[in-house]
Amino acid sequence: MSDHDVDLFVIGAGSGGVRAARIAAAYGARVMIAEEYRVGGTCVIRGCVPKKLLVYASRFSEEFEGAAGYGWTVPEPTFHWPTLIANVNREVTRLESAYTNTLERFNVALVKSRAVLEDAHTVRLASGARVRAETILIATGAAPYHGAQIAGLKHVISSNEAFHLEQLPKHILIQGGGYIAVEFAGIFAGLGSKVTLVYRGENILRGFDDDVREHLRGEMVKRGIRIITKQTVAAVEKVEHGYDVELSDHEQVMADLVMFATGRKPNVHGLGLEAAGVKLGETGGVAVDEFSKTTVENIYAVGDVTNRINLTPVAIREGHAFADTVYGGKPTPVDHSNVPTAVFSDPELGVIGLTETQARERLNKVDIYKTSFRPMKATLSGRDTRVFMKLVVDGITDQVVGCHIAGPDAGELIQVIGIAVKMRATKADFDATMAVHPTAAEELVTMREKAVSYGRAAAE
Ligand code: NDP
Repeated sequence: MSDHDVDLFVIGAGSGGVRAARIAAAYGARVMIAEEYRVGGTCVIRGCVPKKLLVYASRFSEEFEGAAGYGWTVPEPTFHWPTLIANVNREVTRLESAYTNTLERFNVALVKSRAVLEDAHTVRLASGARVRAETILIATGAAPYHGAQIAGLKHVISSNEAFHLEQLPKHILIQGGGYIAVEFAGIFAGLGSKVTLVYRGENILRGFDDDVREHLRGEMVKRGIRIITKQTVAAVEKVEHGYDVELSDHEQVMADLVMFATGRKPNVHGLGLEAAGVKLGETGGVAVDEFSKTTVENIYAVGDVTNRINLTPVAIREGHAFADTVYGGKPTPVDHSNVPTAVFSDPELGVIGLTETQARERLNKVDIYKTSFRPMKATLSGRDTRVFMKLVVDGITDQVVGCHIAGPDAGELIQVIGIAVKMRATKADFDATMAVHPTAAEELVTMREKAVSYGRAAAE
């Protein structure tokens, strides 16, 4: 007879935790899940979902601008931020209820409370109540991290607060060069704000393919975004009509909102991990094996708290695999290779696999195919924009090992290209596929000219 109150206690009702709880319950486990904030976690409440809605909102401006070339007369459009934010928040609330209902439907007990580990089998709730669990899943996610302590840091917002602003900033200064910084730069620019992006390195989106980084930067500048590289924000001072931002080279920039998107850190503090014997890994996340098991036999962790690949679908897959492994009798490791990803910048990016630089480091021969062209829609709209596409091919096996797209719907495209890459499609397979005309995507199956070949084998 078990002395446990529940079979599984999940800490954190975000994407990974909710999926794990639901699947475990469907296998017959008695499951309890604790959430201290809102059910849905980062993605639903203050991440992917509200962000994508803001992205949609921001893109109307280019449609209005381009409409004249297609014969439309559009009255001067006006934009009302409070309407957008109210509508976005309504949708977030609807999704939160949908998640809560799903938990109820699967008989998962939801406790709206912080939960802390007391030992490997005991969780303490904010009320002081203790729950004994056979297995515990940590799915507490990550939180924005502002980097160095600088003067005036209290004036700086993160993406969390961006969804609750009372008004659209006239001029926003964003620090960071990762996903969140470039996405919010595009959102605010599209909605009509003046945007200054400050990044500490040579070029935005470190880790992405260099051609894509260069292309996106050029396109962002065309959209009026000022990008300042090799600088950091040194101080933020509140002045009468906003903030006086001092950069590391002492340049002063006036802005009425300052946002940092300088990365996120796993939510591991104050969770009682030490008390339970759970160890952290080198990147600051909970250390786990391929089945998401921590250093403690009955404690698992999924999603951003493990700091593996911090993307919602990865957390969901990890949560599902955990439940299959522990409750479904199907040990399921998660394959973290070739994960497609999109950056909802303007233009959008879709990428999978190796960058050109990574391929050159790893393979004996690398063939690069790339193209940059004016999208058909821009011919009549008159928009000054180009699409960029690149295939990275193993020159020995002909396998497509990387695909990098910057342009409209790149996120949609890379989902489908992801299947081909995951199936180890070759460049010959791409070429054997008939083009869909006229589309931008047809370029992916019609690139015949090698831009360049590298490697020892290429020189032979
Ligand atoms: P990222 O890690 O992507 O980017 C952080 C940026 O901040 C980098 O440019 C980094 O520079 C810079 N930075 C870090 N520390 C400092 C510092 N002390 N001073 C100045 N600059 C600094 O984090 P984000 O916050 O953009 O996003 C977090 C994660 O959320 C992403 O990595 C991604 O996994 C996920 N996400 C995914 C999205 C999607 O799928 N579309 C959308 C949004 C987020 P450097 O490059 O030099 O390290």
